[in-house]
Amino acid sequence: MTDFTKFENQFQKHSVGKSQQNRKGQMAVNDFGRPEAMFVYGKAQDAAPTEFTVDIDMAEVRTDQVSNGREGMYQPATYDVDIVGAQLLCPRCYSALYVKGKNMPNGKDITVHWDEMVQSENDGLFRPTISVDGVLKCDYYDYEIISSGAGGGGQSSGMSMRCGWQGGVIRGKMFDHKGGLILK
Ligand SMILES: [Zn+2]
Repeated sequence: MTDFTKFENQFQKHSVGKSQQNRKGQMAVNDFGRPEAMFVYGKAQDAAPTEFTVDIDMAEVRTDQVSNGREGMYQPATYDVDIVGAQLLCPRCYSALYVKGKNMPNGKDITVHWDEMVQSENDGLFRPTISVDGVLKCDYYDYEIISSGAGGGGQSSGMSMRCGWQGGVIRGKMFDHKGGLILK
């Protein structure tokens, strides 16, 4: 029986949840072939901070003016990558948190630092760091199917997974927020 209350097992659980780590060259990508970002989280007394991977939802958007006239015909279309959202784990309780990008209702400004690739201590692959503007909160509410055994069938039960953690991530470093202060 795996003890999921243990720190190491929780991290393992996330890692082995994927059948295997997908990669493109030295880049870590998710199951959809898109790059993963990463952040680290750890207290000062920890020997090494824990690495967390982040799944990024992206969409290519045209940022230049679409022109019907001749003036635009010699210029290549300019595309930018819009970060639609990011899926990460609460660094305290490991619940899945989904952060919506700034173009979504109540979204946050998510920045992927493609120029700051970090090599993982775990798998040796490279991932860009990530910043999220504003406060992240662990207020995820999950529903688990609880099997009640023979004859009883399955029972759906609401189960709060929230731990109330608040923090922020800046350039790949996750911080706790307490009383409005950022503890580094
Ligand atoms: Zn949490």
